[in-house]
Amino acid sequence: MRVLVVEDEKKVAGFIKRGLEQEGYVVDTAMDGVEGEEYADAHEYDVIVLDIMLPRKDGIEVLKDIKGKGIKSPVLLLTARDSVEDRVKGLNLGADDYLTKPFAFEELIARIRALMRRGGHGPAVLKYEDLSLDPVTRRARRGDKEVELTLKEYALLEYLLRNPERVLSRTLIAEHVWHQSFDTETNVVDVYINHLRNKIDKDPSRRLIHTVRGVGYVLKKEWD
Ligand code: CA
Repeated sequence: MRVLVVEDEKKVAGFIKRGLEQEGYVVDTAMDGVEGEEYADAHEYDVIVLDIMLPRKDGIEVLKDIKGKGIKSPVLLLTARDSVEDRVKGLNLGADDYLTKPFAFEELIARIRALMRRGGHGPAVLKYEDLSLDPVTRRARRGDKEVELTLKEYALLEYLLRNPERVLSRTLIAEHVWHQSFDTETNVVDVYINHLRNKIDKDPSRRLIHTVRGVGYVLKKEWD
């Protein structure tokens, strides 16, 4: 899931980028309208977060041009509280939603998820055998049983599903899911693997998450 953030205020851009990365998105940031448009041309984004007040080329102009080029990525505009006119203009030009500054991060992430769902543009469901994970609803399914996951359980399972049949060390998992390496004494990874097992891997004859002794874990089908 790849998001482009076009925002010249460094603090705001950094705050959005960090937050989205923690949610597992890949984030590119552009500091002005011209650069933003270049990014939008060069990559296919699941969502573009576009500020209106930008140097070199404002967000409304960028929006007009990228929609004119047929770029299909949904656009979420960031607007100042008092700019009703810009908001209307933006929506008329094909922006998919807008958010008024200042906003809470939770609000932003909710809008981004809604856009991915609405456009059918969202990332595909990840699947391995009878285990699947929907990145939009964050629900996992094993056979006909659907379960809700916490943020970290979700990130962990997503990582496993993106790397099936590959042995993943605890260090790799910790770096990827927690964005840090733990010292070897901590067993955070094992604790979360156990949570996942309890939710989606209970049947011992159809186990998918296997411990690789002294190394880490692997997602693998081992029955016939
Ligand atoms: Ca700005």
